[in-house]
Order: sequence, then C-alpha cells, then structure tokens
Amino acid sequence: MTRKLYWYDSHLIEFSAKIAEVIDHGEKSGLVLDQTAFYPTGGGQPCDLGVIGSAEVEDVDTLDGERIVHWVRAGHGFSIGENIECRIDWNRRREMLQQHTGQHILSQAFFRLFGAETKGFRITDRSTEIDLTLEAHPSQISESIDRAEELANTIVFDNRQIRIHEVTPDEASTLPLRKESFISDCVRVVEIDDYDWSPCGGTHAGQTGEVGLIAVRSWERAKRMTRVHFVCGVRALGDYRIANRISASISEKLSVGREEAGASIDRIIDENKQAARRIRELVNITSEAEAQKMIDVAELIKDSRYVQAVFDDRDLDSLKLLAHRITEQSKAIAILASREADAVRLVFARSEGLNLDMNSMVKFASELLGGRGGGRPDFAQGGGSNISEIENALIGVREKIKAAL
Ligand SMILES: [Zn+2]
Repeated sequence: MTRKLYWYDSHLIEFSAKIAEVIDHGEKSGLVLDQTAFYPTGGGQPCDLGVIGSAEVEDVDTLDGERIVHWVRAGHGFSIGENIECRIDWNRRREMLQQHTGQHILSQAFFRLFGAETKGFRITDRSTEIDLTLEAHPSQISESIDRAEELANTIVFDNRQIRIHEVTPDEASTLPLRKESFISDCVRVVEIDDYDWSPCGGTHAGQTGEVGLIAVRSWERAKRMTRVHFVCGVRALGDYRIANRISASISEKLSVGREEAGASIDRIIDENKQAARRIRELVNITSEAEAQKMIDVAELIKDSRYVQAVFDDRDLDSLKLLAHRITEQSKAIAILASREADAVRLVFARSEGLNLDMNSMVKFASELLGGRGGGRPDFAQGGGSNISEIENALIGVREKIKAAL
C-alpha cells in the first residue's frame, strides 16, 4: 500500500521515494512508489501532475484501491528499489486545493442556510460543480445562491484554521459530520474551525484564506437537483479578468457605463426587431411595384403574361417573394433566375388555374445546369453550377411553355 504523504501535508511538493513496482504498458510505464505526495484522480478531483526523476507524470490513478500508479512515458529506465526525487506541480496543486476546499465551504453554506445536501461534486477544466438538494422556485434560487456565496466568502475572509483528524468510527460518530463516511477502520475528518466537519481523503488548504474568492458562475437544474458551477482562488481571478474585459469592451462600444450596458443592449435588440419588421414591410412594397412593372412589359404567350428575368446575386427569399407577387395576378408566369459566382438559382411560378407544371419545368432547366430542382405544379425551385447554360435552359423552358399553353 502506498503511503499517502498528501494526507499529512498538502503543501509538501518535493519528496524522495523508493520505486516499489514498474508496470509496463506499451508506450507508458506505471510507477508505484513506497510513498507519494501525488494525489490520484478520485473523489471528483483530477490528479496532481509533476515529475518523478526526469520523467513527467502524465496521469496518476489508484489500482486495487491501495496502490497509487504514476504514469510516465516508457523508456526512462526506472528500476525497482531505486530511490528517486519527485516534485509536484504546485500551481496545479494549489488550483485544485482551492476548488476542493472551496467546495467544503460552499457545501456547508448551502446546508446551514437551506438544509441542502451536496450529492455530487466534480472539478472540471473550467469550473467546479456541486449537485444540491436545493428546492426552490427559479426566481428564488438566485437569491439563495447569493446568500450561500456570501456566507462562504465570510468564512474565507475569517481565515479560519483547517485541521485534519484521523479518528475511529466511534469518535467520528460524535462529530457533526456533514456527510457519511464510507471508511470503516479509520476516518479522516477535515475540520474547518467551528464551521464544517467532513470525512475526506483529498488535498485541502491550511487556512480558509488560502482558498481565495469563491464565486458562483451559474446554476441549472440537473438530475432533479440544483447544479451550481463555481470557481475559487486563481480560477476566480481568471474568470473575473475575462468577465471584466468583456464588460469593459461592451460598455466602451456602447459608450455607456457598465451598469447601463444591459439596458442598452435590450434597447438595441428591440430597435433591431423593429428595423427588421420595417424592412420586411418595405421589401413587400417594392416587390409589389417591381412585379407590376415586369408584368406591364411582359411578353404575351397566347393570353398569358410571360415574365422572364435573370438577376445578379439576388437572394432566394427576395426571388421567391417576387415570383409570388407576379403570379398573384391572373394568367401570369414567372421564370426567375439569380446568377451567383458559382451557381444559378431558379424560381419558377405560375398563377392559379394555368395548366402548366412548374415542377417538371424546373427539373428540366436544373438538369441542363447540372443541378437539381423540384416543387409543386404552381411553384418550384432549383438550380445548378453550370452557369454558361443559363440562356439555353431558359430558351428551352420558354419553348416548352409555349407548346404547353
Ligand atoms: Zn475534501
């Protein structure tokens, strides 16, 4: 069994150890030491990283519940019995220790204030999540979270002592533990002075001040619980910097103070909606006038008005709108195309009552353009990338319509 140095001193970063076992696993070697300060992945917390000799530790996990295995790249030539110097990546350890201890503090705050228990905990790349039995209307949850966040930060500002106790299960039963212990012979209890007692095997701060600011980023409902995402210490600083940069950039662009930025954005969104509505109205009016102008000069085939036009880079919606406007009138046929850099779009339509199948017409033209098309007998669309065929395709369509009318 590996002796867990991190249990006794979470600030120990350099230590010597003897190699007890080397596990060959392809490109990787697993090193089991007689003792280690490397915390292995577990209990919702990612492992420590660092170096063993000159080898970088890439992962640390536990085998059979008792041997801690440090995974390094194979080829470093470690041998059993060898004494080796090891070093933990302190920045990462501190970051994890802050999130983990912050979780103890925040979980107790939710428990004290609302009786909400922490049922799940995990440190992810960006934040830490706890799943709480916190039941409240969504409008009240934000307020509850604010209160818990305030209590948690007060405990941080108090800079309270954090003590580790190894007690028997009988002794543990006399302590006001926040959660049950699953260790049978010896219970490791983490005490935050006069605040929280939790059985835990992780790495913790020495005093609460070391955790730094505890800031809740967001919450959501998950698995019938309230999931709270938060950041502590160095992560809270990183998160504050991002949030600060974003809000500064927004208020600068809007030329308003940070506090007014939200209201300004609401106003801009509202103005945009109104502008979009107005644009739709204007497009309707202009397309009606455009359609009328085209009908006025349209070729008469039998007694139907045949409107044919090729536009440059006209968007599909406006092409369709124009086709509808033209064919709202009786006995009208709209054969419209838009030529773009690498393709031609087609919209064919006809008035109700005309015995013409626009579906087959658009299929015929699209095939000549090397593409596909289809739709209803009165309205169809298609196109293709063979741009040079556009004139031939439209001549062919005109001939077919002439023959069909
Ligand atoms: Zn813990």
